[in-house]
Amino acid sequence: MGDPKGFLKTARETPRRRPVDVRLTDWREVYEPFARERAERQAARCMDCGIPFCHNGCPLGNLIPEWNDLVYRSDWTAAAERLHATNNFPEFTGRLCPAPCESACVLGINAEPVTIKQVEVEIIDRAWASGAVVPVLPSAASGCSVAVVGSGPAGLAAAQQLTRAGHAVTVFERDDAPGGLLRYGIPEFKMEKRHLDRRLAQMSAEGTVFSCGAAVESAAQLDGFSAVVLAGGARVPRDLTVPGRELSGIYQAMEYLPPANRLGASSPVSAAGKHVVIIGGGDTGADCLGTAHRQGARSVTQLEIMPRPPRSRPESQPWPTYPMIYRVSSAHEEGGERVYAVSSEEFLPDAAGAVRALRLTEVAMSGGRFTPVPGTAREIGCELVLLAMGFTGAEKPGLLADLGVEFDARGNVARSASYETSVPGVFVAGDMGRGQSLIVWAIAEGRSAAACVDRYLRGLDRPALPVAIPPTARPLV
Ligand SMILES: Cc1cc2nc3c(=O)[nH]c(=O)nc-3n(C[C@H](O)[C@H](O)[C@H](O)COP(=O)(O)OP(=O)(O)OC[C@H]3O[C@@H](n4cnc5c(N)ncnc54)[C@H](O)[C@@H]3O)c2cc1C
Ligand code: SF4
Repeated sequence: MGDPKGFLKTARETPRRRPVDVRLTDWREVYEPFARERAERQAARCMDCGIPFCHNGCPLGNLIPEWNDLVYRSDWTAAAERLHATNNFPEFTGRLCPAPCESACVLGINAEPVTIKQVEVEIIDRAWASGAVVPVLPSAASGCSVAVVGSGPAGLAAAQQLTRAGHAVTVFERDDAPGGLLRYGIPEFKMEKRHLDRRLAQMSAEGTVFSCGAAVESAAQLDGFSAVVLAGGARVPRDLTVPGRELSGIYQAMEYLPPANRLGASSPVSAAGKHVVIIGGGDTGADCLGTAHRQGARSVTQLEIMPRPPRSRPESQPWPTYPMIYRVSSAHEEGGERVYAVSSEEFLPDAAGAVRALRLTEVAMSGGRFTPVPGTAREIGCELVLLAMGFTGAEKPGLLADLGVEFDARGNVARSASYETSVPGVFVAGDMGRGQSLIVWAIAEGRSAAACVDRYLRGLDRPALPVAIPPTARPLV
């Protein structure tokens, strides 16, 4: 522990966001740079707890007190080494993670937690800027080959671990470029794609082969590989089956965000000049909100069936859990209205068969169900509706059906304690096995599945590579 009084002397501080009227004119990340001395002062707030609960909040088991201490001592190079010891892609989690580690930070019991996520991103950005992040080449080739299907964070983490262990890894991606949701789901204003491209260049230099525009639809396409890692995500969206759903102008979030991420304001599905309704109050909805504002929407309303959460931890979600509280993301700060405790009842058409309004009603919980509150039905005018109500699981037709893998009770690809599916030699990692989750869990699963694949290929008793989590690990609740 560098400074035993750091947490007493220094208040929590995070970087400022660029002014709303400025950032809405571009797609760049919203945060301003954070001075090195400020990051070092923030790291000094860490108490180096005897039992660092931050570790329990993070599925990667990040060595948080160690790198906080190193940053406090200005040893940024050693901090980056400790950071990479548990996380292949800290520049992704440092920007995009909701930081369950901070919710679990001991300082958070009676004060503001350590700015763990900010320290993380400062370490890795400085490491890249100083040229310290270089390809890590395998010491010897194993003679085994591995196919990784899907290039989201789970597939990338598995591929990097396996390539570095000496296996010949090919990543198959049906999109035109690798990254999964990191590239075509998450908007540029949350993470600029240059961070992804830089990491992909490192992986290519290490020997990972990327085959893009390559949808794997049959088991035969994987013939000849010694092992397979399925990392295709959980992309089947939850739909809203109410009257009028067939009208034009109603899109799933993942029909709207990918073209916007490719083309920005010139996307064929644009919010420019439109009244927009987003159904779903979560993070995907917030990504649609920020995108719609940048495209020039006239108004944006985000609807959520749940009541508005409290501003601080409710007693039912004590430290160190990740609480459901009212959060203001950068997209919320930029405008729009959030409406809670409402249910969408019907989409109403104009003369051309396009959506012109949504009829909704307020709801209250009664007998374990949401029930309409009489007399509260009303219409909201809208020309664009975005459905952001989550995902129900992996796409079953095609590759999964042809392989014949089994599914668990929740519809995810079933796996053993070693991430192996019901088909020998075929492993699964990330949202495809876990269900819709977070980047940090996808990386943790990719690393862990890679360790199990490496053990399988080498016939070892126990994994030689690090295992972050078992497939059954769940967030603190
Ligand atoms: C809009 C949105 C925003 C999000 N924002 C955040 C955030 O800010 N922070 C956070 O922690 N989490 C966020 N998440 C969740 C997070 O992105 C996912 O949990 C994570 O990306 C899952 O990683 P994955 O590798 O399992 O799958 P994915 O990222 O979904 O990648 C799967 C890849 O597999 C490819 N694929 C699928 N089938 C095949 C096939 N048969 N052949 C070839 N390729 C195939 C797909 O094209 C895709 O590229 C967000 C999710 C969404 C939808
Ligand atoms: S729980 Fe918080 S204060 Fe304790 S070691 Fe982790 S980051 Fe530091």
